[in-house]
Amino acid sequence: MRSYKAKMVEPITLPSRERREEVLAEAGYNAFNIPAENVYVDLLTDSGTGTMSDAQWAALFRGDESYAGSESFHRLREAVEDVTGFSRVIPTHQGRGAENVLYGCLVEEGDVVLNNAHFDTTRAHIANQGGDPVDCPVEGARDPVRDAPFKGNFSADRARDVVDDVGAERVPVVVLTITNNSTAGQPVSAANVRETAAFAEEIDATFVIDACRFAENAHFVRRREEGYEDRTVADIAREQLSHADAIVMSGKKEALVNIGGFVAVRDADLFERAKQRAILYEGFPTYGGMSGRDIEAMAVGLREAVEPPYVEDRVEQVEELGRMLEERGVPIYRPVGGHAVYVDAGELLSHLPSEQFPGQALVCELYREGGVRGVELGSFAFPGADRLELVRLAIPRRTYGREHLEHVADAAAAVGERAPEVTGLEVVSEPPTPELRHFSAELAPV
Ligand SMILES: *Cc1c(COP(=O)(O)O)cnc(C)c1O
Repeated sequence: MRSYKAKMVEPITLPSRERREEVLAEAGYNAFNIPAENVYVDLLTDSGTGTMSDAQWAALFRGDESYAGSESFHRLREAVEDVTGFSRVIPTHQGRGAENVLYGCLVEEGDVVLNNAHFDTTRAHIANQGGDPVDCPVEGARDPVRDAPFKGNFSADRARDVVDDVGAERVPVVVLTITNNSTAGQPVSAANVRETAAFAEEIDATFVIDACRFAENAHFVRRREEGYEDRTVADIAREQLSHADAIVMSGKKEALVNIGGFVAVRDADLFERAKQRAILYEGFPTYGGMSGRDIEAMAVGLREAVEPPYVEDRVEQVEELGRMLEERGVPIYRPVGGHAVYVDAGELLSHLPSEQFPGQALVCELYREGGVRGVELGSFAFPGADRLELVRLAIPRRTYGREHLEHVADAAAAVGERAPEVTGLEVVSEPPTPELRHFSAELAPV
């Protein structure tokens, strides 16, 4: 049962089939180029696309827009301390701002950074510092049908192999991304958080948790890990983060706001260095690229994210879409993760070779069929990598209802029925940064 109701609405329309064809061609067959007014159900991302609560809207009015030392900052700092246990906090304009501030202080040319799986902006920031981002997923993480509770875990065994190869002195940072966005939103167990923290300590590396989806992760721990069933999400969330030396956060995810983020660190010295870098790239360290009112909304949203029944509702809605797709015979990555359902386009459009981007072809077909927007996370987004051809259908928080999800599942099923007729795509123009190709490249049908 939903734990909220609508108090404000936004009209949406499904453009005609002819118009959808035109829109696709004009967008260069890249969903990022489609104007949002032409999208009916937008599952491109759950980042900053959610609905704020009435309490968050009310908090906006309290925004203190002082350049330095604003009241709003103090309320954010308190919320971050209560929810995460970190007291040294710097707001940033969004998650990647936090990444730039933190990794700019920690990573140098020639360094290696280990992560259960780097999110795309994380990978790009490490690379931008001259570092080498290396993923250490556990066995089976890339198997779309293996049923395991914590496929997002970090493999310390793999990480040790890398360290044996390059030497511990070249690995200054170990990151754990919870939930593991790049591995189908799969959770990380509390035991794995402890194990990864111990590994980082063993090689004398700074242990960072990418906490963008920390509440969803805590919810999975509560549901799936022995000994946690009677603990609250808030309590588990704090325990997870207690092992980290620093956290990066996108407010657009689990602080339930449309823009914002923060970085928080334990060490006083690192805090000073991070503040200097924040001044350069984000703003004075008590506003860091955010307005006072947006900081207020983030402070409230961060507390809401760990309150029952918000997170239960959230994860169950994602599972609901997964069930609807499976009932209609659409292959998905199992089990369903925290924020999105990942359709296995390699399986659904198995006649298309990876050079013809089956995932991107499916993204286009979902739009053509139902005005639905998803995103490809396969050989188009990750050129050169040998990976699953997935299409992510990310669900904005507190925004869509069951009818919308049924529409999405029906559209996917209709594409599945005419799968053999679906043609592949080729890239016709792309930007110079390969890590960011999928945001702006243009394609054409083969
Ligand atoms: C979204 C996200 C980021 C980046 O945050 P932005 O607010 O989009 O800049 C970093 N890491 C993970 C795991 C994310 O999900």
